[in-house]
Amino acid sequence: MGVASKRSIAWGIATSANREGARLALAYQSERLADNLRELAPALRDPLLLQCDVASDEQVDALMDRLRETVGHLDFLVHALAFAPREALTGRYADTTRGDFAVALDVSAYSLVKVARAALPLMEGRQASIVTLTYLGSERVAPGYNVMGVAKAALEASVRYLASELGPLGVRVNAISAGPIRTLASSAVPGVTSLIKHHAERAPLRKAVDIDEVGDVALFLLSSWSRGITGEVIFVDGGYHILAV
Ligand code: NAD
Repeated sequence: MGVASKRSIAWGIATSANREGARLALAYQSERLADNLRELAPALRDPLLLQCDVASDEQVDALMDRLRETVGHLDFLVHALAFAPREALTGRYADTTRGDFAVALDVSAYSLVKVARAALPLMEGRQASIVTLTYLGSERVAPGYNVMGVAKAALEASVRYLASELGPLGVRVNAISAGPIRTLASSAVPGVTSLIKHHAERAPLRKAVDIDEVGDVALFLLSSWSRGITGEVIFVDGGYHILAV
């Protein structure tokens, strides 16, 4: 879930999973993105393209119904989506409105709970794996990240609660905390270009993170290679988060 363009982190994950033989269903937010998806699809092995806005319980349930009818089960699910109104990402966090806070937390954090619950009948008992995407702004203050940092903190806590409850049912839940990458979503965060530059100069690996690096770690978390790991947040940020200054 979450391919919007060829720059999307979800696209990096999709191409890694496709390379290793997975058959994929790509869920996209709205018909506005359908043409992008149709352009990208030929790079994958016979993908299903399904529309689903995660702000709607009905659309999430309908997505899982379609998957049950067409495929029957899911071995993994990638939740690579987030949203906050642009006004909430400019100015002071203290000025976040009740409405913008609710929207950001609903789409970026609650959606994982809804999607995991709806997908469970398709995943239960299959040694299945759910992966979501987060950012260091959940634990530290990143300029302009504002309410999205709070949403990512809720998302990471959700990963732990879901992992605890779904583990006995044979489903693992983990998050990847990616370093800054230029995508449609990150362009909404003011100053993202200088953040990426700063990251490339300071991170121990001295480079910006790219979607292929995230894709390959996601592949590890989606596959049985990581069968002993659940409830974890794994950083794919060139080591940036270990630095004190
Ligand atoms: P992106 O713009 O390519 O993807 C964001 C996706 O969220 C889009 O496909 C969009 O359609 C989807 N989305 C938003 N609202 C939705 C809704 N209501 N229903 C369904 N889908 C919805 O950007 P990205 O950077 O690839 O973002 C993917 C994930 O990675 C997000 O959770 C983001 O917070 C996270 N992340 C991004 C970075 C970065 O620097 N780009 C770093 C760390 C984490």
